Amino acid sequence: MATIESLLEKVNALTSEVSALKDQQAHLVSLLSALKPDTNWNHDSPPPPYDHSTDYPLCQGCIGNEPGQMAHMGYMGCLNSGTQDDGL
Ligand SMILES: [Zn+2]
Repeated sequence: MATIESLLEKVNALTSEVSALKDQQAHLVSLLSALKPDTNWNHDSPPPPYDHSTDYPLCQGCIGNEPGQMAHMGYMGCLNSGTQDDGL
């Protein structure tokens, strides 16, 4: 059974790890910003989900916003490998 002390120790270790990573991230973001100032390199919030519909306007799964993989593998689907034999 973990003691409060050991848990606190873990939390403190993780907290310092997180701030070290945040410092590292800030440093990398400033480097990237210097290289490409027109791009927003700050990802404090998670990036928006990738919008397949822009690249695959004919994917039925994307049109219906289907969460399942299978819906995106049909004809013109964004996950369609194009190697299926359509019998043509
Ligand atoms: Zn899709």
